Amino acid sequence: MKRTNTFALRPLSDNGERLLRELLDGSAALWNQVNYERLMRYNDEDGFEGDVWDADTGQLEGQYKGVLGASTAQQVIRKNSEAWRGFFRLKDQYHDESNTSVTEHPEPPGFRGNEDDGRQLKTVIRNTSYTVEWGDRSRLEILVGSDLKDRYDHTGRLRLEIAGEPNWPDYEQQGRLDLWYDETDNTFRASQPVTIDDDTRDTPLADEAAALDIGANNLVACTTTTGEQYLYDGRELFERFRQTTREIARLQSLLPEDQYSSQRIRRLYRKRTRRRDHAQAALCRDLIERLYDEGVATVYIGGLTDVLETHWSVEANAKTHNFWAFKQFTERLATTAEEYGIAVEVRSEAWTSQECPQCGSTDRTHRHEDLLMCQCGFEGHADLTASATFLARQIKQAVRPMARPVRFQWDSHEWLESSCSLRPNEQRTNRSTVPRDGNLAAGGLA
Ligand SMILES: [Zn+2]
Repeated sequence: MKRTNTFALRPLSDNGERLLRELLDGSAALWNQVNYERLMRYNDEDGFEGDVWDADTGQLEGQYKGVLGASTAQQVIRKNSEAWRGFFRLKDQYHDESNTSVTEHPEPPGFRGNEDDGRQLKTVIRNTSYTVEWGDRSRLEILVGSDLKDRYDHTGRLRLEIAGEPNWPDYEQQGRLDLWYDETDNTFRASQPVTIDDDTRDTPLADEAAALDIGANNLVACTTTTGEQYLYDGRELFERFRQTTREIARLQSLLPEDQYSSQRIRRLYRKRTRRRDHAQAALCRDLIERLYDEGVATVYIGGLTDVLETHWSVEANAKTHNFWAFKQFTERLATTAEEYGIAVEVRSEAWTSQECPQCGSTDRTHRHEDLLMCQCGFEGHADLTASATFLARQIKQAVRPMARPVRFQWDSHEWLESSCSLRPNEQRTNRSTVPRDGNLAAGGLA
């Protein structure tokens, strides 16, 4: 079966780092040139596949093989071809009326980087053009072009140190390696697809499950069948997102009338997106690693999109849509889960957030901030309760969280366990502020 190892890389010297950067930059330049040639032909043909494939990529390959090596130049071009084929496939599906899975017109493949920030450092290396050695001092060796070797007075393959342990150290085959520079934390990273024998899977997944409640204040509330609960707090992250959004609006109001954007505004947009993406990627990894350790084989995610339209206030709705980018998040989560062999299932069904886990009532409950209360006497953290109810519905049996819920907060770099992880009795602090006269109707979000 197919799995992926992802890891951080460290060049062994400044010279090695410069060489690596030039290799990645050259790959992005080649991608952009190939893509430009194809895009021109695509636009010429008025949006038909036409002679996109007539672009002279052989000539470009010749031009870049001195820097990248012939095999890497070929891989970059091949990957661009795959992107174009994927685009045409989506476009066919979009125009096929019997197919409802593609609802937005797809865009042709994009360029790596932009004028303001420069090229996006990224390459792809054929499975026979790199080697990985796992051990106390794990390392990666990649092929580089002869021109680069001459320029940096380097012989043989370029060696890089691998930080951390692989998820799948034993495999039968390795696939094409992706290697890139991650600007959000200034780290070189790689992902290595591998094929492993079904029998050699060293930590077999148990048959456990987990369910996620996704929201704006608490980004993810999770309950597992092993009795664990996790809560990822998004308030601070959202506050920073909102500050940047305000700053963008302020700058926009200062623009001359005939101008819609500026370099500074575009940079703020990108910064805002990068920060969210970074937190989101880190959350997926942190959560999936925990679930993997718990023996979770399936993760259920509620179909937030449907739910938003009917149950959430307009403000909460916009807040979650813009900030959290739900679709992107579930895709990212699924990709990360796939690395660990965990299945992700998105279930759009009835809203569980207002349901009392004790008596099953939805119209006798009331939510105040993070607290869900019911007239039957139940009190608990609303989002954690929702994830537990959702999980119970998926596995068709009652779920009783046993461990103290663990709360995580974002510190701009990683998700840290908060010192004030919720004890059950801490969930009751709002009691005095809420009337308990029995006349409460189920309210929406306050
Ligand atoms: Zn109740």
